[in-house]
Amino acid sequence: MHNVVIIGSGCAGNTAAVYTARAGLKPLVVKGREAGGQLSLTTEVENFPGFPEGINGPDLVENIKKQAERFGAVYLDGEVQIADLSKRPFELNIEGDIIHTRTLIVASGARARWLDLPSEQKLIGHGVSSCATCDGFFYREKEIMVVGGGDSAMEEANFLTRFGRRVTLVHRKDTFRASKIMLDRARNNPKIEFLMNTAIEDVFDIHQNSVTGVRLKNLVTGVITDREVDGLFIAIGHIPNTHVFKGQLDLDKDGYIVSHGGARTNIEGVFHAGDVQDRVYRQAITAAGAGCMAAIEVERMLEAEGH
Ligand code: NAP
Repeated sequence: MHNVVIIGSGCAGNTAAVYTARAGLKPLVVKGREAGGQLSLTTEVENFPGFPEGINGPDLVENIKKQAERFGAVYLDGEVQIADLSKRPFELNIEGDIIHTRTLIVASGARARWLDLPSEQKLIGHGVSSCATCDGFFYREKEIMVVGGGDSAMEEANFLTRFGRRVTLVHRKDTFRASKIMLDRARNNPKIEFLMNTAIEDVFDIHQNSVTGVRLKNLVTGVITDREVDGLFIAIGHIPNTHVFKGQLDLDKDGYIVSHGGARTNIEGVFHAGDVQDRVYRQAITAAGAGCMAAIEVERMLEAEGH
């Protein structure tokens, strides 16, 4: 029987692990499919307080993990496949292993959203990517395209100019969700070309099992054009990892956990932390703060129950 199981090993989960481990609760952290969360897919983090020169994202999240392990947190490879939250202790099926826990912190984050074109899906890993940090290296002096109009798209486009001959940023509107600073940085980058009011209709070439180009549609004029592309990076947001809690935890229409105040969910003993609940701030520091809040709620609850 565990005192607390933390689902997710990103900034939120790891911070919850630091706090619950220091409280002597011996947390078990289930790493999940994308261990390290979104920070492990990013490069330089310049806005996490305490690092005047910035810090590499994967280093930051790994450091928090090491800090948690120093106080006794245990990390488990794998993913929760079934969660029975109908009664306490809660029961989790982690790839066939059944474990029980008095409390649960859901810090399972959110995964990349895709365009969901059949050709795009077939070419993931063969020229279609959701992670510039992981795959940018493969496109030295190549023609790169990035899709999206948020901070992720701007960040990826800027980063990819280190590698590509040219980066074309395709966005379906002519207004952006990206913050002004990120947008300005991309606009001032001479290697980035903007294609506005444009959607990707198809990705070529599934027969060659490699990206060779895309079909674009101008959403204002309706004009269709084809363009040669070597690498297509999709940066259009994320989907919360909550499918195993469907029907048990209160979720909003997009699947994000609905907060019941603080870090509380609708189920007593189950707490939320990070991007799995937060669709507004979604920063490393807010995820870390949310992990801390969830840990404190767990500590107080277990203390009140005499554990
Ligand atoms: P986002 O802000 O939700 O932006 C998603 C973008 O993708 C929007 O421009 C959206 O277009 C577009 N989009 C969504 N679905 C699409 C589809 N099916 N086809 C084409 N385009 C589609 O997501 P994000 O950029 O990943 O950012 C998420 C959060 O992380 C934000 O709060 C952001 O500030 C933060 N972030 C911060 C940093 C940083 O500070 N370093 C870096 C990355 C992300 P519409 O506008 O038309 O809906």
